[in-house]
Amino acid sequence: MGGLSAAAVLAGAGWQVTLCEAGARVGGKANVAEVDGVEFDTGPSVVTLPHLLDGVFRAAGSRLEDELTLLRPDPGFRYRYPDGVCLDVYHAPDATRESIRAALGAETAREFDAFLAYARRIWDAAAPHFVTGPAPSPATVMRVLPQLPSLLWAIDPLSTFRAAIHRHTSSPHLRMLLERYATYNGSDARTCPATLNCIAWVELGLGVFGIEGGLYNLVRALERVAVRRGATIRTSTPVRRILCESGRVSGVALDHEQLEADAVICNADVAHVVDSLLEHSHGLRRPDQASMSGWTAVVRAKTAERLAHEVLFPSDYEAEFADIFDHDRPPREPTVYLCAQGRAHGRTTWSDAEPLFVMANAPPEPTRGTRDERIWPDLRETVRARLLDADLIGADDPIVWERTPRGLAQTYPGTRGALYGAASNTRFDAFKRPPNRWSRLPGLYLASGSAHPGGGVPLCVQSGRLAAEAVIADLG
Ligand SMILES: Cc1cc2nc3c(=O)[nH]c(=O)nc-3n(C[C@H](O)[C@H](O)[C@H](O)COP(=O)(O)OP(=O)(O)OC[C@H]3O[C@@H](n4cnc5c(N)ncnc54)[C@H](O)[C@@H]3O)c2cc1C
Repeated sequence: MGGLSAAAVLAGAGWQVTLCEAGARVGGKANVAEVDGVEFDTGPSVVTLPHLLDGVFRAAGSRLEDELTLLRPDPGFRYRYPDGVCLDVYHAPDATRESIRAALGAETAREFDAFLAYARRIWDAAAPHFVTGPAPSPATVMRVLPQLPSLLWAIDPLSTFRAAIHRHTSSPHLRMLLERYATYNGSDARTCPATLNCIAWVELGLGVFGIEGGLYNLVRALERVAVRRGATIRTSTPVRRILCESGRVSGVALDHEQLEADAVICNADVAHVVDSLLEHSHGLRRPDQASMSGWTAVVRAKTAERLAHEVLFPSDYEAEFADIFDHDRPPREPTVYLCAQGRAHGRTTWSDAEPLFVMANAPPEPTRGTRDERIWPDLRETVRARLLDADLIGADDPIVWERTPRGLAQTYPGTRGALYGAASNTRFDAFKRPPNRWSRLPGLYLASGSAHPGGGVPLCVQSGRLAAEAVIADLG
C-alpha cells in the first residue's frame, strides 16, 4: 500500500519511478487467492478514512470516486457476546446509538455518546500532528507550543486505553466493543495509550467501508493510476541491497542488475531494511515489539443468515490479551472475526457458497526461531466450533485457504507475521516509529506500517504519500 501510493504520487508529479516488488503480484498484505474460479481477499477486509485514499488519487491526477466504488453495508457489524446478547453496529453513529439503546439500555447509549465525543476530541486534536502530517519532530513541538496544554489534555496521553474506557463506561458489553479497537493496530488494550481510543471515532463516527468487487480493487486502482502516470512496476523483483555512494543512497541491487536512483523509498518492514537491505544501519533500529499477528482462513460457506462482518466475543476477553501478550501463545478462546465477502464487498461468489474470511488474533512469530505449527489445528477446531454453534457456517463447509503467522512472516520479511508493523503497547511507541525521511542516510525514505504514521491501510497509504512528498521537497 505504501509503495504503490508513493509510486502514484511521484509519478503524478512527473518523476521517473520504478517499483520493485518481490512477490508475483503487488499489494503485499492486501492480497488475494483464488479457488475454483472465485477470487477472495486474504488481507484487509475494511477501509476507513477514505479521504486519505482520495488524497493520493488526487495527487496522481485522479479521484477516488473515479477509480473505486465504496460500499456501506448497513448494519455492517454484528457483535455476538457469550451471554447471547447481539449488538448491531451501523454506518451512522445515531443508528448505532439506537441499536445500543435497544440491546443494552438507555444508560449504555448515553455512555456511548459520551465516549464517542471523547474519542472524537482525541482524533481532531491528534490527526493533524501525529497521523496525516509528517512525523512529530522538535519543530512540530515548537509550532504547537501555544496550544500544547489543550492538545495534551485532548489526547489523554497519561491514561491507558482500557482505563479511559472504564472511566467513561460501565457496561461490560460496551467495554468489550471499545477494547477491541486496540487490536485494530495490533496492540494490547490493557497497556496501550488512551490516545488510541481515537480509533473508536474513526470506526464508529467516520465509518467503515467496503470496496465494490473486493478490497484488492484498491490495490489495482493504485497500480493502474501509477502506471497511467508513467511508473514502471516490476513484480517478482526482490531488492537485495540498498546501494550507497559518497554518503548517500545511489540505487538498489537486484539479483542480476543494479538500478541507479536519486532516492529510494523502502516499503519493506524496517526490520528487513536494517537486517538485510542496508550494509550499515545508519541509526535505523528494528522495532522493539511487533504488533499482533493472526490465524486466518477462508471458508466456502453455503448460504446462511449473517451480516457483512461478524464478531464473536470469548467468555473471558482479559484472558485473550493475557494469552497473546503475557504468555506469547494463541488465545485458548479467541475472539473470532468473520467477513462475508459477497455482502461486504459485493464480491462474486461460488454459485452455492460465499467466501468467508475468518481471523483469530495471535502473537507474532518469536524473534528467534519459529513457533511449533502443531498448535494451529486446535485453534482451527475452536474457531470452527464457535462458527458452527452460531450457525454462521455449516458442518460440511470446508476451509479452502489458511495461513498461520509463520506463513505471513515468511512472505513478508522482517515482519514476524505482524499485521500492522510495530506495536503501540506503551506511551512512547508511536514516537519510536522512524519518520518517512531518514535524514541520517540522505536519499533513503521509509513508508509502510513500520514507519510513520503506522499500520492499517489508510495510514500505510499516507506513509507512502508523506515519503513521496519528502522526496519532492528534498530533490524537486
Ligand atoms: C489478515 C490481515 C487483515 C488485515 N485487516 C485490515 C483491515 O481490515 N483494515 C486495515 O486498514 N488494515 C488491515 N490489515 C493491515 C494492512 O493490510 C496493512 O497494514 C497494510 O496493507 C500493509 O501495507 P504496507 O505498505 O506496510 O506494506 P506490506 O503489505 O507489508 O507490503 C510490503 C511489500 O514489500 C514487498 N517487499 C518486502 N521486501 C522486499 C524486497 N527486499 N524487495 C522487493 N519487495 C519487497 C513485499 O513483498 C510486500 O509486497 C490487515 C492485514 C492482514 C495481514
